[in-house]
Amino acid sequence: MVDLHLHTTASDGRLTPLELVAAAAAAGVTVMAVTDHDTIAACADVRDEAQRRGIETITGIEITAVENNRDVHMLGYFLDTADRELAAFLDRQRAIRRARLEHIGERLAELAMPIDTAQIVAASAGRSIGRPQVADAMIAAGYVADRREAFDRWLGSDRPAFVPRTGAAPEQVIATVHRAGGLMSLAHPGRTKLPDPRLERLAAAGLDALEVYHSDHDDALIAHYASLADRLGLLRTGGSDFHGDPSHGVSIGGSTLPPEYWTRLHAAAR
Ligand code: AMP
Ligand code: MN
Ligand code: MN
Ligand code: MN
Repeated sequence: MVDLHLHTTASDGRLTPLELVAAAAAAGVTVMAVTDHDTIAACADVRDEAQRRGIETITGIEITAVENNRDVHMLGYFLDTADRELAAFLDRQRAIRRARLEHIGERLAELAMPIDTAQIVAASAGRSIGRPQVADAMIAAGYVADRREAFDRWLGSDRPAFVPRTGAAPEQVIATVHRAGGLMSLAHPGRTKLPDPRLERLAAAGLDALEVYHSDHDDALIAHYASLADRLGLLRTGGSDFHGDPSHGVSIGGSTLPPEYWTRLHAAAR
């Protein structure tokens, strides 16, 4: 079972790298990639623990690009984690996240739901901050029951505490990942909903793969993006997007990459 989309406490997952590998082993995963948001902090621990348990693993990341004020999540695989340009790029990404956290905090204070943003920053030293950690602070303060309610009522796009972000364009992210020796896949295209002609241009700009298999994709979306990948000459990736959060409703291995496409992806790694 191949699951190439998993999160840990290095970003907004609820399991530590060691707990995640243990859970993946229990679920029957044989190949895994951790793909935390804008950080590779968990990769080394996951690699070591996976090796100990006989699970194959590759480096991974989920980078947030921005286009027309909307987030475009992009998955990098097989990256060189020692690449210095990649490290500098990710430092900037995380700085943008911290600045955005302050703005969301101001917005929540105006809405009579103050949270301690300094504490969130301090508690996540070296890791990546996002709205899920804001949601957790809101849960702790009793403003909402779970992460889902926090997004549905306050933090999601078009909701009162939403703050748009600025950041790298998808083409820049592709170039950065390629320079670090990685392959680039577009995460959950069925959720991000970029128009197909835009995906065609990203393919021309070097995009290597589409995440055809994802927990949010029903059979029709899988069929659509599988045929689009074939037409554009793109590889396929897939995974669950497990965060260890009950309100997210996703389990490890709940969506997987068929072995045939794992073999092709692996063969394409530089
Ligand atoms: P951010 O990184 O700040 O843009 O936050 C985006 C993250 O929030 C995603 O990667 C998901 O993990 C999480 N998320 C998005 N929508 C929801 C939702 N409706 N309920 C719970 N978590 C969500
Ligand atoms: Mn997430
Ligand atoms: Mn995503
Ligand atoms: Mn994800």
